[in-house]
Amino acid sequence: MRGLVKLFDEQQILARVEELARDISSEFRDEKIALVAALKGSVFFLADIARRMDVPVELDFVSAHSYAGNESAGTVRVEKGPSLDLKGANVILVEDIIDTGRTCARLVELIGECEPAVLKICTLFDKPGRRAAPISADYVGFTIEDRFIVGYGLDHNERYRNLRAVYYIEDGPDPM
Ligand code: 5GP
Repeated sequence: MRGLVKLFDEQQILARVEELARDISSEFRDEKIALVAALKGSVFFLADIARRMDVPVELDFVSAHSYAGNESAGTVRVEKGPSLDLKGANVILVEDIIDTGRTCARLVELIGECEPAVLKICTLFDKPGRRAAPISADYVGFTIEDRFIVGYGLDHNERYRNLRAVYYIEDGPDPM
């Protein structure tokens, strides 16, 4: 296993999550929001941002995958759609990271079919350098270079999700 190099510590992440929660709360003042999180990478981000909002929130989960190991496969398979009735709702799609944007684009399409009144995207990490789909997030925690990161929900082969900080893997992930 190559070394993990810390990119953002827990305090930096939580301070930025607090700011995002404040921005979203002030935009949707007194309105109800449905936070729809993309499994599994955004679970800790969802838990932290939802608890810092001072507007009424509902929580839901969706799941789609375009990844095999650390390489984007191009096609996106939806594994779970929303459970809430999102028709007419203020929806924020909560993403861990947007890379090529293909997964997010598919989830936007999926949620769009539910006819929400508003649909915005909030991602903790953004790698705009690798974009292949025309997606830009409304709320971005950190814009990062094209590096494979792990921790705070993000995995490499299901490992490292529970790390409190975010790291990049020196010289990239190990070969599968
Ligand atoms: P996209 O469809 O935007 O290329 O891929 C988005 C998904 O790829 C994310 O939800 C995440 O699962 C995975 N992904 C993209 N970049 C990274 C990264 O740097 N680290 C980890 N752990 N997953 C990533």
